[in-house]
Amino acid sequence: MTKYTINNLPKIRGEYIFDEPLKKHTWLNVGGNADVMFCPADSDDLRNFIKNKPKEMPVFVLGGGSNILVRDGGIEGVTIKLKSKNFADISIQDGCISCGCGLINSQLKKFLPQHNIGGLEFLCSIPGTIGGAFASNAGCFGKELKDVLISALVMDGTGNIFTANTGDFNFAYRHSDFPQDWIILEAKLKVFEQKADITEEIIRKNDEYRRTHQPQNIRTAGSTFKNPEGYRAWELIKNAGGDVLEFGGARFSPQHYNFLQNDGSATARDIEKLTETIMQNVFEQTGIRLEPEIKIIGKPKE
Ligand SMILES: Cc1cc2nc3c(=O)[nH]c(=O)nc-3n(C[C@H](O)[C@H](O)[C@H](O)COP(=O)(O)OP(=O)(O)OC[C@H]3O[C@@H](n4cnc5c(N)ncnc54)[C@H](O)[C@@H]3O)c2cc1C
Repeated sequence: MTKYTINNLPKIRGEYIFDEPLKKHTWLNVGGNADVMFCPADSDDLRNFIKNKPKEMPVFVLGGGSNILVRDGGIEGVTIKLKSKNFADISIQDGCISCGCGLINSQLKKFLPQHNIGGLEFLCSIPGTIGGAFASNAGCFGKELKDVLISALVMDGTGNIFTANTGDFNFAYRHSDFPQDWIILEAKLKVFEQKADITEEIIRKNDEYRRTHQPQNIRTAGSTFKNPEGYRAWELIKNAGGDVLEFGGARFSPQHYNFLQNDGSATARDIEKLTETIMQNVFEQTGIRLEPEIKIIGKPKE
């Protein structure tokens, strides 16, 4: 049971949900509860919460839940979910678009051709939200967030809102390094004029590639590990016995060994054991240390 109640939390206009099962909010469909889930009405509501919340209360921001493994003991404190449509605005200015952090990337699939613009086709095919793309400098098809980001509107842990530039995020391959208490509110992204049919064709080809090369309709979080320089993670996994490894209902997908999957009966512990075991096996076989791309958060079950 959570120690937080409506009486020790700031008054807000959005919604508090107590003991919310996080498996409902993640693609892997495992994990314990959030003590409290807070869904702010808008950025003023979020700011009011951040300024007035109990000082010691930890905060975690959840995007689309497509790149996280929540442990079975859940997440302490408040998990913020920016699901209000006020966090999903999108508008065009000169040579760029402004997107709210809660915008689901795939919503760009309609918007880009409707406005005869291109440049963000790669982003449309990545599950999750604009805000979530910052944590791992999300990318595919030869492009990453850092290539298209102009600036971002950010709220820090004291509720200050300011503009951060690309350099402030220290982006690298599937990596960024910005202060833990930053909440991305909005991103300004570069686009260029491009006929609708060209944009649509690139999006179609990208989707087709995913359909034919990656497992579909499974409980996964995408690539489990980063590709070590000069190697492909899926090959290292397969060669180290990942094709037969299984814990509970967790195993690597035979269609793409770097995608792990929950067959429906796995716990977060099963999934974590699978990742730890393959990391150890690959290290013993090759001396290479696989680095997780998935973010593992929360506490183990007591
Ligand atoms: C089938 C599949 C395919 C995938 N393919 C790719 C791919 O091709 N390329 C790729 O890069 N990734 C891929 N991924 C991984 C994932 O989709 C991306 O990492 C995505 O950007 C995560 O976004 P999200 O909104 O789901 O974030 P979440 O998983 O909810 O969160 C990820 C991190 O972002 C932080 N975060 C979320 N929102 C905010 C915010 N507003 N402010 C601050 N921090 C925030 C969270 O705290 C967490 O640390 C794939 C995943 C799946 C399931």
